[in-house]
Amino acid sequence: MIDAPTFADVRAAADRIRGHAHRTPVLTSRRVDDEVGAQLFFKCENLQRMGAFKFRGAFNALSRFEEEQRRNGVVAYSSGNHAQAIALAGRILGIPATIVMPHDAPASKIAATEGYGATVVRYDRYTEDREAIGAALAAERGLTLIPPYDHPDVIAGQGTATLELLEDVGELDALYLPLGGGGLSSGAALAARALSPSCQVFGVEPEAGDDVRQSIRSGRIVHIPAPSTIADGAQTQHPGEITFPILQRELTDVLTATDDELVDAMRVFAATLKIVVEPTGCLGFAAARRAAPAGKRVGVLISGGNVDLDRFAALIAG
Ligand SMILES: *Cc1c(COP(=O)(O)O)cnc(C)c1O
Repeated sequence: MIDAPTFADVRAAADRIRGHAHRTPVLTSRRVDDEVGAQLFFKCENLQRMGAFKFRGAFNALSRFEEEQRRNGVVAYSSGNHAQAIALAGRILGIPATIVMPHDAPASKIAATEGYGATVVRYDRYTEDREAIGAALAAERGLTLIPPYDHPDVIAGQGTATLELLEDVGELDALYLPLGGGGLSSGAALAARALSPSCQVFGVEPEAGDDVRQSIRSGRIVHIPAPSTIADGAQTQHPGEITFPILQRELTDVLTATDDELVDAMRVFAATLKIVVEPTGCLGFAAARRAAPAGKRVGVLISGGNVDLDRFAALIAG
């Protein structure tokens, strides 16, 4: 039984990442407020190091390694932002990183991960199991496996984004968060409960991949088939053993957004806030636009900005 993280762990994580992670800006827009009918505060983790909040959890987790773990190194499996986050945190802390990625991962993602100095081990996602490969590497080489969301130090690190938001703008009435496996939302809920106790906290999943909503409704972790959505950072198939009880206890509700709503949100971000946001990063705003309580103070977490420019252009033109 792993100890569930608490708000004290989020505070400790904030001390560890200080000076390494950016304290990202909070943007506002009168034009968007007028459209939505509420006062919105956008926490811009698309401007975080390596382009997403995942650097927070990765750096916090790796900072806590013992001497022997540091020497042997870390292993992670991911085709996306967690891989780059572990690679960058490893480079900063002098911890060798091995990342297990599918053969068909975008060349730009593999290049970015290798660019941070990590060793990429490729696998065939149709015939091989990445968790088994990660576990085998961990056992053979003494590497420490850091999963993308179901780990107390990862959750505590992700919570620092909401801690900063609440420190910077004060209490909120509602908060909308992109939701995949729940590391970001669990950490955010711990911070919100401590610093803004009456704040309603909403996780927002892709409509095609509502594994957390299904899990909360049925009171147990539900596994779904790999969802088809442009929100590639939230294609998780189930919440975690550690994240699920926190989400179950702390979230006001789980909402969903369609791919069309995500594209529309990408356009608003580019045209009005002048920022590039990846599809998954738009989940919170897509739901807040429809559901934000009228006239209230509403936080929207923009989780990442890693999208190839060609894909960005094709999506917003489409
Ligand atoms: C990983 C990721 C998410 C989902 O985070 P979880 O902790 O898995 O819920 C959302 N947005 C982006 C950009 C991500 O990289």
